[in-house]
Amino acid sequence: MRRVRGASPLPAVGSLLNQPEYRELQERYPRALVADAIREQVASERATGPVDPADRLDRVARLLAGWTAPRLRRVINATGVVLHTNLGRAPLSAAAAAAAAEVAAGYSNLELDLESGRRGSRHELVSDLLRRLTGAEAALVVNNNAGAVLLALTALARGREVVVSRGQLVEIGGAFRMPDVMRLSGARMVEVGTTNRTRVADYESAVGPKTAALLHVHASNFRLSGFTESTPLAEMAEVARRHGLLLLDDLGSGALDPVADEPVVGDSVALADVVAFSGDKLVGGPQAGIALGRAEPIRKMARHPLARALRVDKMTLAALEVTLRQRLLGERSPVARMLAAGPEELRRRAAHLMVRLRERGVPCRLAEGGSAAGGGSLPERELPTWLLVLEGPASRLAAALRRGEPPVLARIEDDRCCVDPRTLLPGEDDLLLDAIEAAAAVVTG
Ligand SMILES: *Cc1c(COP(=O)(O)O)cnc(C)c1O
Repeated sequence: MRRVRGASPLPAVGSLLNQPEYRELQERYPRALVADAIREQVASERATGPVDPADRLDRVARLLAGWTAPRLRRVINATGVVLHTNLGRAPLSAAAAAAAAEVAAGYSNLELDLESGRRGSRHELVSDLLRRLTGAEAALVVNNNAGAVLLALTALARGREVVVSRGQLVEIGGAFRMPDVMRLSGARMVEVGTTNRTRVADYESAVGPKTAALLHVHASNFRLSGFTESTPLAEMAEVARRHGLLLLDDLGSGALDPVADEPVVGDSVALADVVAFSGDKLVGGPQAGIALGRAEPIRKMARHPLARALRVDKMTLAALEVTLRQRLLGERSPVARMLAAGPEELRRRAAHLMVRLRERGVPCRLAEGGSAAGGGSLPERELPTWLLVLEGPASRLAAALRRGEPPVLARIEDDRCCVDPRTLLPGEDDLLLDAIEAAAAVVTG
């Protein structure tokens, strides 16, 4: 064994494990885990030289605490970005979250028809709701929208051609690039038009004997402006009908009701054979890919082996079912409420936070600002809001908030640390105020 010159030899893992202070650790952690931590600590001492026993114990305890600390945690979103991808997109309604938890902890009729006692389909659980909400003939839910688009292309166009406008070959955050998805599906992409202009004649002239479908992609997170032209979905539908082709529409956000200039799901369903969008963007539900459309192509997608690989789990279906039912009953999702909040209400909420923070001696003020829908939805539209501006060094404050308990994600704007009340959920105010007070104390130190 290699020795560090002039230092005491390193103790053996086994003998440390039997010392009383390490036995104490074994009351909180499994013996094997404590042994791993000791082994790792001893190995590092072998490289850097031995430390004294109290230090060693302390480092072993910290290793164990680090290894077992919760990673995925609830945070407070004070950024004002409603569908924040890094923060898990849509927060579920309390009822949707409760339904997911309920089904997760027990057995359920996931694939059983309780009436007949026969095997049922998990897809049936939400397809009635989706049909009623959108007018679609059929519905299929998979893991996410990227999966829904991949499945549609694979099941309906593999080995054939799909025509798509160059202006719609977009990349959505998280490496969803339409050309890559197309390649993966085995469909051959035929690009038409130019980046800024694609006319109906461009689609028309690209159609050949191998064409299976026309694909329309909602540009989501970017907008072309200036000298542009894109072919409306209705005109694409005419071309598709004339040539007996499928029309596929990747809608992205999936607005069930009209919001700003987002395309509405029902309008798209009336024109396209298959429409795909996310469950956790404007729908305000769990992560899911919702495919709606005519019965035949949706059936083909459901029967494709890839559908099995992309299928959703019971927790997702439980949350989605409740989200859709609440929608049908006219109840607003948390996402819908956040998007609808007006500047008056937000000013009142920000002012309330300001008064309570000043009572605690934390300097702050109000400022006008803008929030964003995020998630590639309504990219150009800034939603007017009122910000609570925390006085002090912005990036240090933001870092202290992020590392706090619970973690708070603030927004830095014009070198000020800001809290946007739009994305605060009911019941978060007191936690937020405590967290801000603690962070201000860290910074003023
Ligand atoms: C967001 C988005 C996707 C990806 O959806 P996920 O649910 O994140 O898989 C695909 N296409 C468009 C147009 C989108 O906006």
